[in-house]
Amino acid sequence: MNTILADMTNRIDPELMTLAGRIIRSGGLVAFPTETVYGLGGDALDPDASRRIYTAKGRPSDNPLIVHIADMGALEKIVSDIPSAARLLADAFWPGPLTMVLSKSPAVPLETTGGLNTVAVRMPSHPAALELIRKSGGYIAAPSANTSGRPSPTEAKHVQADLDGKIDMIIDGGPVGIGIESTIIDLTEDVPLVLRPGFISLEMLQSVLGEVRMDPGLHSEDPAFRPKAPGMKYRHYAPKASLTIVEGSEAAVRAKIEDLARQAEESGGLAGIIATDEDASVYAHGIVRSAGTRSDEITISQRLFGILREFDDLHVSVIYSEAFDTPQLGAAIMNRLIKAAGHQIIQV
Ligand code: AMP
Ligand code: MG
Repeated sequence: MNTILADMTNRIDPELMTLAGRIIRSGGLVAFPTETVYGLGGDALDPDASRRIYTAKGRPSDNPLIVHIADMGALEKIVSDIPSAARLLADAFWPGPLTMVLSKSPAVPLETTGGLNTVAVRMPSHPAALELIRKSGGYIAAPSANTSGRPSPTEAKHVQADLDGKIDMIIDGGPVGIGIESTIIDLTEDVPLVLRPGFISLEMLQSVLGEVRMDPGLHSEDPAFRPKAPGMKYRHYAPKASLTIVEGSEAAVRAKIEDLARQAEESGGLAGIIATDEDASVYAHGIVRSAGTRSDEITISQRLFGILREFDDLHVSVIYSEAFDTPQLGAAIMNRLIKAAGHQIIQV
């Protein structure tokens, strides 16, 4: 299959957007930018389109897709009931990086929800995403546009690397703003539950709803505590080289990573180091990449997945990352990093 690359980095091209909408309406797949990461879109109400998404990504079919909408009117058709909590959260955070899990209506095929009777819904804020949804009939199922298991794509070239030749079109909207996937909140429980941390933090959700809890299965390695979002149980975001997080006081972390990178070099390997603007220059061994600055944490979430992909391309033999326990985004960034590291953490 020839994958069309539609350049919309400077402006939305109406003709190409109409073509993209036509592709989705006829069952095809279009990757597009959102404010979180690039999504791989297909018609959410067409079971064949959902099946094609799973095939293109190599995604396990029990891992449900998020349905993207462009206006509140669209919500009524795909959910059986809109609880007041959903309206409050939509008023506060939509369009934006928040996904809500609600009871699904019969309009949504089980192929889209991985067999569940709930559906995850989000209204993104990226103008190209909203325009594509409108041109496509109003309901786009879109997981992250990467091969299953690899880091989520934050630039069109990442989508190309994974899906070129497997999908109909890629809309290039330039690098994304947030860089990690949406917060997921489950509103079908008595107490709302965060299934995946993201840009919208637990505290922001609590300020609107009152009591909200984190899914206790989220970071557990105990199989008895399975995460409630089916996708969170899979190995994710994994770079090719083994990744270890080093956590502790800033000075001790730097000394430990420097030591580990030197050891890697002495045994003929090459370490990739994920640092920050504040200290990237202190490391004398390995390839150092700054994820951003601790004083502007979104710079870290924006760059994290891109750095993991770059280390794959550079064939480093091992990766060491500083921990990023920043105030608002720290929980989300560390959730992705811990998964990418397969829970390998050194405390110093
Ligand atoms: P991705 O599309 O790559 O951002 O992944 C979507 C995430 O949403 C996965 O972790 C899914 O398991 C989760 N998800 C989607 N729909 C539901 C649902 N109905 N209930 C719980 N989790 C869901
Ligand atoms: Mg994903």
